[in-house]
Amino acid sequence: MESEKVTGFQSIAENVGQFNLTGKTVLMPEMSRAGTHLLAAVFRGFGIKAKVMETYKGLDLGKEYTSGKECYPCQVTLGDILYFIKKEKERLKDNFNAKDYLYFMPEAEGPCRFGMYNKYQRIVLDSFPGLEKLKIGSISSENSYDFTGMIEQDRVKNLRKAAFLSVVVADIIERLLWRIRPYEKETGTADAFIEKSIYLIGDAFESYVAKKEVEKILDVLDDVIREGKMIIDPSAPPRPMIGIVGEIYLRNHVHANQDLIRVLESYGAEVVNASTAEWVNYIAYSGLRDAAIKFRLSLKQLKIGSSWEFCKKIIGFGKEFYYQQYIQKKCYRRARAIIDISEDHKIAHLEKILKEKDLFSFDIGTEACLSIPGIVSYAQDGYNGIVNVYPFGCMPGTITSSIAKPLISTRQIPYMDTAYDESFQPGRETEIRTFMYQAYQHFKRHGRKRH
Ligand code: SF4
Repeated sequence: MESEKVTGFQSIAENVGQFNLTGKTVLMPEMSRAGTHLLAAVFRGFGIKAKVMETYKGLDLGKEYTSGKECYPCQVTLGDILYFIKKEKERLKDNFNAKDYLYFMPEAEGPCRFGMYNKYQRIVLDSFPGLEKLKIGSISSENSYDFTGMIEQDRVKNLRKAAFLSVVVADIIERLLWRIRPYEKETGTADAFIEKSIYLIGDAFESYVAKKEVEKILDVLDDVIREGKMIIDPSAPPRPMIGIVGEIYLRNHVHANQDLIRVLESYGAEVVNASTAEWVNYIAYSGLRDAAIKFRLSLKQLKIGSSWEFCKKIIGFGKEFYYQQYIQKKCYRRARAIIDISEDHKIAHLEKILKEKDLFSFDIGTEACLSIPGIVSYAQDGYNGIVNVYPFGCMPGTITSSIAKPLISTRQIPYMDTAYDESFQPGRETEIRTFMYQAYQHFKRHGRKRH
């Protein structure tokens, strides 16, 4: 593709935000495979044409239009959209119309750069003739990922609830994969089964979610879990348990993390990755927490008007957070009645760990708020090793590493930092092998976590 001069910053204000999705093809970059495909299915269930783009095939394009200083997920996702457009133009030729599409790139407020991806990517898209018409649709952590303006107002709440359900169900499917794959009777069965199941559950979301027929979706999930459980070889001995924390995209994107979980499994691990729902919980919990702090402050200052505004926010975020807890509890209870997958972290418990040990603060924000106490929680729960995954140069990942290393050394649990960009790291395999040797020694001495 030929690039033209960058058109300026006005487009960021006009062409990034919450736009009506009616009639558009919503292009979604893949992060977690199950998570992205189920979210796309939810959109389709609400009548929105959503499509998950092929991922990682456009990495060269992503690198070509970045300087190398950007976060790695920004490069990968930029590559995904540029590659999609290139292929779509080849397919449709003169019939290609950028207006027909909307690129979906959420954002987060806070001190790191996730809020900047869609702005930077806007500038890059604008540098191609005609692509300024391809809007970037964004939902933000600032309003707890609200879809206002993207569909009819009376369906906004339902879409958000449905989207959260898809996040939890996707987490459970992935936990099922990590639970069964290390013990499969025949190599490759678990992967093939989960891939098929993602589409099966996706179909259930598409058919039932807009009608709020949650039970029907969970019935399909139950069937999948029952069938998946049969893949396990009952005679296979238990393995050391490894817990993963870190940056959400890298943790979940198997190409970007060079298939870390599979590599750990190949050296004898059973792995549990921190969930995606954990981040969504954190956003609602932080909103509730901030509103409560501001409410108390404005009451002290006798500012009645702003007290009332913060009070409304407390109610809004509170309802959101407690709904999330309710759905998670319900879905995990059903799944765990069939198979012993690990439960999710509780956000209030993670904050308590930070406060008790004075390690970090939710006031600072970022994923370090989750990763640092997540590490402590894995250690307390009897895991045999912990891995912190993040993009090379990632701020929260580096903060986590600097706090976790001294903390974990006193507990004598194997710990490994793994920073990624696209480069091949020659010593990585050796490092993982050594880490797994240590984890196995820990497992022999202390046993392992019960699910
Ligand atoms: S979490 Fe890390 S990779 Fe993600 S935006 Fe922040 S600094 Fe970049």
